[in-house]
Amino acid sequence: MTTKHETMTEEGTCPRCGEKDLWREDADVGVGIIYGPWGCPHCGWSESEEYDLKFGGGVQDNGSYLDPYGGLLPAGNPIAKMLSMEARK
Ligand SMILES: [Zn+2]
Repeated sequence: MTTKHETMTEEGTCPRCGEKDLWREDADVGVGIIYGPWGCPHCGWSESEEYDLKFGGGVQDNGSYLDPYGGLLPAGNPIAKMLSMEARK
């Protein structure tokens, strides 16, 4: 059985766990603000399937860590190390 990636139906609410405190990166590029994908700090859902912890995100083969907001912590980063240890439990 394949897991289907959930799509956000209500702005700011996690479609997987119902968390209402979602977060996304924003970057001011001068002419406006660019937003990253919505991500859930609770279950790791991301608006973008490639960053979703259940799909392409989370701990990568090389030990780096891709967060639900599209940020990449390089292997060797203390937080990435901690998270990859968590993931191996
Ligand atoms: Zn969630």
